[in-house]
Amino acid sequence: MKAARLYAPDDLRIEDVPKPEPGPGDVLVQIELALTDGTDLKTFRRGHPVLLRESPSPFGHEFCGLVDGRRVVAANSAPCGVCDGCARGEQCRDLQFLSGAYADWIVVPERIAAVNLHDVPHGLAPEVAALLEPLACCLRGIDRAGVQAGDSVAVLGAGPIGLMLAACVADAGGWPVLVGGREERRELAGAFGAEPGDGRGADIVLEAAGTEQAWCDAVELVRPGGAVVLFGGLPGDARPALDAFRLHYEELTVRGSFHHTPATVRAALAFLASGAYPWEQLVTHRVSLAELPGLFADPPRDLLKAAVVP
Ligand SMILES: [Zn+2]
Repeated sequence: MKAARLYAPDDLRIEDVPKPEPGPGDVLVQIELALTDGTDLKTFRRGHPVLLRESPSPFGHEFCGLVDGRRVVAANSAPCGVCDGCARGEQCRDLQFLSGAYADWIVVPERIAAVNLHDVPHGLAPEVAALLEPLACCLRGIDRAGVQAGDSVAVLGAGPIGLMLAACVADAGGWPVLVGGREERRELAGAFGAEPGDGRGADIVLEAAGTEQAWCDAVELVRPGGAVVLFGGLPGDARPALDAFRLHYEELTVRGSFHHTPATVRAALAFLASGAYPWEQLVTHRVSLAELPGLFADPPRDLLKAAVVP
């Protein structure tokens, strides 16, 4: 079969590889399409401490596919169920991940298939169903933020994640304000329940840009006594210079939000199927597997997400 494999930053190749063999409990899925995301683009540009540990590495983790004629979608990980984090109802400390969605076939390992592989509801387009994983991360972010009806919530970062976070805030009864981003992205804000703005004095700030500057900006923007949720990951050696005065004297709450849980994955699938927001507008491009290296090397300016069709 054909598969994209990442050898090193800027070195992504489409190659013939053996079709993967499922073990007991694993599920072999024929990929209908996969979606590009910002993490993949970052990994392509500068590598990744977890995703690019071996070379070559399978690549891609958002997908929709077929199993015996049934359309299915899966998240890219599952919790272990036995670690300290799982026992406390917190994020698992030993998540098992899958990768390799830019390919004809993928094996969903038993642990992930058991909790995070779902049939796609009838009528839901594959490119919308494949938004499951990032939307599940956003719903966890909203949980971590404790968004209540009437809260003003600034979202830093106007990419696909920022737009999905805005929709989640609006759905929870909050008032999302989309901060930053280029003009054409800000124009999409309204369709996802948000208004563009500067976010100053918000009750809650969701940082979804994934830069040290955005982490610092989030702490500067929130109102005294407000909450900041750090959603965008930074390199492991990053030490952002957060405003200690504000943290202490203004009693800010700062929390991290990482990844998703089986509960937010299920909620995300229902949210997508509800058709409450024009999710399909987040998928702006469609490319073949052969065109994928070129897309990553020179992403179109108006790219939000691309559907990669094997
Ligand atoms: Zn665990």
